[in-house]
Amino acid sequence: GVHVTGTKKRLLPVDGFFRPYQARRQALTYDEIRLTPNYSAVDPGSVDVSTRFSQNVSLNIPIVSAAMDTVTEHQMGIAMAKAGGLGIIHRGLSVPDQAEEVKRVKLHMNGCITRPICVRADESVESILNRRQQKRWRFSSFPVLDTSDHVVGLVTQNDFDFCTNRTLTAQEIMTPFDALIVAAPKTTLQGAYDIMQKASKKILMLIGKDTTLAGMYVWSDVERLVNDSSAIFTVDSDGHLRIGAAIGTGAANLERAAALIEAKCDVLVIDTAHGDSKYVYQTLRDLKRAHPNVDVVVGNVTEPSAVRRLLRAGANGIKVGIGPGSICTTRTISGTGCPQATAVYQCARAARGSGVPVCADGGINHPGDIPIALALGASTVMLGRLLAGTTETPGDLQETPKGQFKLYRGMGSLSAMQESQASRERYRQGSDIRKLVPEGVESVVPYQGDAANVLHRMVGGLRSGMGYTGSATIAKLQRANFYCMSQAGFRESAPHDVLVIDPSSTDRWR
Ligand code: IMP
Repeated sequence: GVHVTGTKKRLLPVDGFFRPYQARRQALTYDEIRLTPNYSAVDPGSVDVSTRFSQNVSLNIPIVSAAMDTVTEHQMGIAMAKAGGLGIIHRGLSVPDQAEEVKRVKLHMNGCITRPICVRADESVESILNRRQQKRWRFSSFPVLDTSDHVVGLVTQNDFDFCTNRTLTAQEIMTPFDALIVAAPKTTLQGAYDIMQKASKKILMLIGKDTTLAGMYVWSDVERLVNDSSAIFTVDSDGHLRIGAAIGTGAANLERAAALIEAKCDVLVIDTAHGDSKYVYQTLRDLKRAHPNVDVVVGNVTEPSAVRRLLRAGANGIKVGIGPGSICTTRTISGTGCPQATAVYQCARAARGSGVPVCADGGINHPGDIPIALALGASTVMLGRLLAGTTETPGDLQETPKGQFKLYRGMGSLSAMQESQASRERYRQGSDIRKLVPEGVESVVPYQGDAANVLHRMVGGLRSGMGYTGSATIAKLQRANFYCMSQAGFRESAPHDVLVIDPSSTDRWR
């Protein structure tokens, strides 16, 4: 390739495309540009869409869900990781609650119950069944322990079903230890599957030193997880789903970060409206010093100089976007920001060659904006609105005469700031809730069904874009070129001059 003198950065077609616009400081957005079709020898079905969100966090699809309280908690985190992407748990939660959301994603693929509920050998059937009912446990297999915590047996639903005298003790109805199948403490999910399958047993206890209980597998979980797992899942080296979590700046957020790392969070995102600010650099440096092995993605920025500063301060990923979000009023309130296509391009160019990936956050309005954002140099896109209408977002479905909707609001909207200190802090506002200046709106979006279906359509659009540009990988897509188009071009790009009778197949996104 061609090299620019004095830098190690390869010159790409996109640099030539942007040169005249950059020279007159004219910034472009997704709706003004289209990828140039190119000779293709690739089939959309077989292109490789894998990428990285941060230096050490790889994904199988380049899509990340937004750290917003109407988008990402554990349900979305699980759906995103299962689709090959990643969720970022929002920070409008208390520290324990946010850590709990992270744990729920991390434990989803575990299968192993690390601290099973046990009964004592002398506890009566009556007492066990009462406890079960009071606590609303939906399971009825309990390891039986003696007074010094040695496992002596197991009681199951079967034992309860055939028990006619409720004054009998656990010990009198249990299957004794010697008649059970057990395994070593570190037994994996697949290991447990094989043992249980072979022995036709529905409970496998993991037994450590001195017949102490180290965990338990239940067949229904094990079977579901083994048959459910797929090569596309975003998983860590232990086979657990990956998850990210948002934090803010300052000392309290260093504690938040520690709790999230303790919960096995895979990547932290310093989530601010203005990433190129003093507090962000301080927090980034403190975090990298305290947890050098945890990836930290930082945002949001739009300027190449900010990217260079963040790279020097140790960011493992950079998030780009000030003002493009569908629920965002930052640009109209503050008069500040940069149209998103230019922001993504110039930030990705500043990060080029550093190995630090860029995430294009906000303003993705159509599936086709995803291949555009990636071709501009982003490695991933972050979505709010396009995922906001799905089953997995927090919040209830709203039934209205006009159809089913879900709430979607900016983290800088009045209601979000009134409810959450983190939101006020994100937009650097005081704690007097009568004096808030919103930078986002509250809205509803049509219900879209499961996130998996929405993601399938978006990845389909991306694959198609890679097909038209002849790009077998995202790295190759980043060698594509662009056309700039006027309003007339934009109008021509969407269905026009017809009365659309199946809007779901064409413009489901607006
Ligand atoms: P969308 O995908 O266009 O809906 O944009 C989502 C992105 O908007 C999020 O990932 C945030 O970066 C950004 N965002 C979220 N809440 C606000 C807000 O209240 N004001 C401005 N930007 C916001």
